[in-house]
Amino acid sequence: MFEHIQAAPADPILGLNDAYKKDENPNKINLGVGVYKDENGNTPILKAVKLAEERLLTKEQSKSYLSIEGSPAYCSAVQKLLFGQNHNIIAKQLAKTAHTPGGTGALRVAAEFIKKHLSGATIWVSNPTWANHQSVFQSVGLEVGSYSYYNANSKSLDFEALLASLSQVPEGDVVLFHGCCHNPTGIDPTPEQWYQLAKLASKQGFLPLFDFAYQGFGQDLTEDAQGLRTFLEHVPEMLIASSFSKNFGLYNERVGALTIVCDSTDQAEAAFTQVKRCIRTNYSNPPSHGSAVVSEILNDSELYSLWESELKDMRTRIHEMRSLFVNTLKSKGVDQDFSFISQQQGMFSFSGLTPDQVAQLRRDYGIYIVGSGRINVAGMTHNNMEPLCDAIAATLKS
Ligand code: PMP
Repeated sequence: MFEHIQAAPADPILGLNDAYKKDENPNKINLGVGVYKDENGNTPILKAVKLAEERLLTKEQSKSYLSIEGSPAYCSAVQKLLFGQNHNIIAKQLAKTAHTPGGTGALRVAAEFIKKHLSGATIWVSNPTWANHQSVFQSVGLEVGSYSYYNANSKSLDFEALLASLSQVPEGDVVLFHGCCHNPTGIDPTPEQWYQLAKLASKQGFLPLFDFAYQGFGQDLTEDAQGLRTFLEHVPEMLIASSFSKNFGLYNERVGALTIVCDSTDQAEAAFTQVKRCIRTNYSNPPSHGSAVVSEILNDSELYSLWESELKDMRTRIHEMRSLFVNTLKSKGVDQDFSFISQQQGMFSFSGLTPDQVAQLRRDYGIYIVGSGRINVAGMTHNNMEPLCDAIAATLKS
């Protein structure tokens, strides 16, 4: 039965991580997979998370199933984080939220929902985008198109080209935006550009799907939601895939959410029954622990403040590493201008390193970078900065 099955190619990002783990080079450096690391190269459990878990240990009374959409306290806390405490959408009950296993789970449920209920819609993703987007959407049979985003020469957003691309998207199609900290480029639209994009969405009549995996990693929780909130001033409908893997450090707890915003409460209620159907036939109902932790933190002012300050520490460390990287490369006599890296947001940057240079860094120095040249800045530390920049300087010269 199975003898005809060919091995699938390794996942471009998770496969790299496996190769890193097997590498015996004691000086190896992992700038591949998108996981936050602290100054010691560890991915810590946040203090706010530990405290919430301690409380849950005594409080939890049952391991019975959650409902299809997960716990109400969690879903309502997610909406406050997305829209802001007093948003109209919350007051008028125009949004419904389901807890999903991670941001990927939210995207997958969104994909099935689009496929079933937005007949014939194509989904448009930025070029470039997170490596898994295309696969997730194609796995349910959706057509995936790409829109212009990045100018490789200027290492910046090609806004003219972006507007031109999206002006071709017909009514009824879906356009995926990265809420903040664009993966892989680290380049986000400015507030004025978000405004123009929102107006364009309203004019064209396409549905925005916000992939929001890094809220709080760019500037802060509120600023990072500005793109999405600006859109909501211009369009009545939206899908939002949230991930709490990074900003709560809850990677392996698989905690995320899918939120649907509609024009009326009745429409929201009706559409959400179909979202729940997609979930029921997929994983039935979500795992509890991660969402209970997030809910405990978001619904408690003391834990919330602690979490916010820990999130700020992560964000500040990444910004520091960006500047240190740019300055250290300069101090090694690298002529190429890398200053764009200190302007970017979130964990990732497109370094501009070519596939050959990426391969050489891995082979000669045990430095792991995704083939596209995307680097995870959070993998840099004061300790590995010198050898990392020495290796890049030598590679650029060779
Ligand atoms: N979207 C983007 C843009 C991401 O970078 C990621 C994680 N790398 C995800 C979604 C998926 O997040 P999760 O790990 O919560 O499934």
